[in-house]
Amino acid sequence: MTQDFLQFARPDLTDAEIDAVVESLRSGWLTYGPRSQAFEEAFRKAAGSEHAVAVTSCTAALHLALIAAGIGPGDEVITTPLTFAATANVIVHAGATPVLADIAADDMEIDPAAVARKITARTRAILPVHYAGQPCRMDELLAVARPNGIRVIEDAAHAAGATYKGRPAGALGDAAAFSFYAIKNMTTGEGGMLTTNDAELADKVRVLRAHGLSADAWKRYSATGTATYDVTLPGFNYRLTDFQAALGLVQLGRLEAMNAERTALAERYNRGLAPVEAVETPFIRPEVKTNWHLYPLRLRLERLTISRDEFVQALKERGIQTSLHYMPLHYYTYYREGFGFQRGDYPVAEETYERLISLPLYPTMTEADVDRVVAAVEAIGGEHRR
Ligand SMILES: *Cc1c(COP(=O)(O)O)cnc(C)c1O
Repeated sequence: MTQDFLQFARPDLTDAEIDAVVESLRSGWLTYGPRSQAFEEAFRKAAGSEHAVAVTSCTAALHLALIAAGIGPGDEVITTPLTFAATANVIVHAGATPVLADIAADDMEIDPAAVARKITARTRAILPVHYAGQPCRMDELLAVARPNGIRVIEDAAHAAGATYKGRPAGALGDAAAFSFYAIKNMTTGEGGMLTTNDAELADKVRVLRAHGLSADAWKRYSATGTATYDVTLPGFNYRLTDFQAALGLVQLGRLEAMNAERTALAERYNRGLAPVEAVETPFIRPEVKTNWHLYPLRLRLERLTISRDEFVQALKERGIQTSLHYMPLHYYTYYREGFGFQRGDYPVAEETYERLISLPLYPTMTEADVDRVVAAVEAIGGEHRR
């Protein structure tokens, strides 16, 4: 193999991000402060929400949203089996019980009909994941939730800049949590944002993110602040730093352009892979605009003599790194043993997992990179045709 190794994902950083971080550090204000507030204000506008609260991660945002919504022991929270562990871990951290509802076979998003079947007297929230950057069927989920007084908290870790019926992810339900982890569509290294139109929830999250200190305590070392504060809740330390916010502001300004580059590359994958019999390209519903956080390809195993793992290995031998989003949550030891989930419980997620591969996709990839992956998928499919 003489060709370069093609990475699965890479952050897209320019001199503007580096300069902004350096300038922030030179200002002497390191933790939550003026840039964090500017970042929250800019993100709030982009997400179409009334409030945005910057935190250390999407996991922190989800955790605080659940606690602020009053969800705790005895409560059930419904989510999808096709997600990252953090989505369910936070339900456990809040003291509640995770309940899973299977995905739809077409778009791999949580299936509102499956959610409806899982509603009990204890259900307090639905935590849908906008998988791969495609917003879930929100109207259908809200129709299930609203009559039962159930909260809908979007796991929007994948969904910065994605839209549903023309509205951005972030204010589609009661609250939404975004991730700025290194390989998400925009990054602050680690970082997250909670968006909501619920002023009371936003205020609680602000207090909970900073040890439970009364609002504005962050100003206590500035000219306008006072040295005293009250503690109203047993909070956490989930604050973003100001230099991360400086990075986030530049990334947010570039988000639309970066998503457009992902979209152009994804459409090139779609065109290249459509005629390849061994695979099924992602299905995107007409009412959404995905941000192409991931390009989840599904193999047609009935047309292949090899498994998904063997297909992944063959791509690796050709210098192409892939990933897998995700092993179903109920296969993990903790969830299997702790909550009695069993294989066979979520047949659509399970069948999907057996044939799922995430192809490389990021703004700094080239069209030639995409063509190389398409050619490799086609060649491997041809070599192992059933
Ligand atoms: C990345 C991710 C998270 C966690 O985000 P962090 O910012 O790393 O905490 C949660 N849910 C999903 C679906 C993710 O992909």
